[in-house]
Amino acid sequence: MFCVECGREGKLYNNLCENCFRKKTVLANLPSDIDAVTCSCCNSLFLKKKWLDSKDIIKDAVSSAVKYHDDAEDCVLDVKPVYRDERNAGVTVNVRGVIFGLSFMEEHKAEVKIKNAVCPKCSKMLGKYHEAIIQVRASDRKLNEEEINTVLSVAEQMVKACDTFISNYEKMHGGIDLYIGSMSAGRQIAKSIADKYCAKYSESPKLVGRKNGKDVYRVTFAVRLPKYRTGDFVYVNGRVLMIKGMSKSMITGADLENHAEKLFKHDELKNAKILPNTTEDAVVVSGSENEIQILDPKTYKTVTLIKPKNFRAKETVRIMRYKDDVFLVPNAQVFFTKTNINTEYH
Ligand SMILES: [Zn+2]
Ligand SMILES: [Zn+2]
Repeated sequence: MFCVECGREGKLYNNLCENCFRKKTVLANLPSDIDAVTCSCCNSLFLKKKWLDSKDIIKDAVSSAVKYHDDAEDCVLDVKPVYRDERNAGVTVNVRGVIFGLSFMEEHKAEVKIKNAVCPKCSKMLGKYHEAIIQVRASDRKLNEEEINTVLSVAEQMVKACDTFISNYEKMHGGIDLYIGSMSAGRQIAKSIADKYCAKYSESPKLVGRKNGKDVYRVTFAVRLPKYRTGDFVYVNGRVLMIKGMSKSMITGADLENHAEKLFKHDELKNAKILPNTTEDAVVVSGSENEIQILDPKTYKTVTLIKPKNFRAKETVRIMRYKDDVFLVPNAQVFFTKTNINTEYH
């Protein structure tokens, strides 16, 4: 077989010897001027008619502008930018690749211009656009700071995953209102918060207008957290209980009298009284297998308490006071390992 170009005999590539094939072949084409259109708000990059996240705008813009030889394989780009100012960079691009088993290496130069725009997502967000409002409240109490932060972080993760945004949020009536760019993301957020806190949620759509001949709705998702939290002390049916954990259908409590585990449905605790947390440390004076004597820090009197099974006393124990009664608070370790339906620990 002979090279059609120079007549040399040997292995051919597209009817050419290696030498002639290399002379006639270009691994990559790169335009000398490349525009990188970025969103000035979220830094995403407009590439191939789409707005995409970019960790390296210059490299991504160059990668998308380069055109490889049709038969090129294993192509690797190395992009070295030299910024002339904030928006302009000269780039040296080293390209390596393989065509018909032959390795190629090329160096290209280009100018990258970074142009600012606002992506549609951010422009909606800046206009405070929203399709869903999520109202998170708790029954008979305010949400605490931790719950508000958790709600916000659940919403932030979810809008990111759903490619939408939180256009606004406000702390309202002891809870929080979130304005979400997409209805389905709003529903997912409401559902996750409800799952996380064993809460109920409802949705009510409201007609807000018409667009392109279709009714446009905005949906309000109302999420209501239970009045009790894991770790709370409650008074129910004449007993003082500590809430150990909860699932959607069940609540596990520990009866403070004997630390026995009790299960409740959410409805059964509807009228439970949430007790102020009056726990404090008390010094152990003496103890036997079934009893424990503590020094009441309030009255300085020795109090004898029944020692629940599995209760481990050290020099001090945690006690909880309700009216004239003093109870031992379950040990944290026993308390945590024994529960299996806990969804939340505090
Ligand atoms: Zn040749
Ligand atoms: Zn943006």
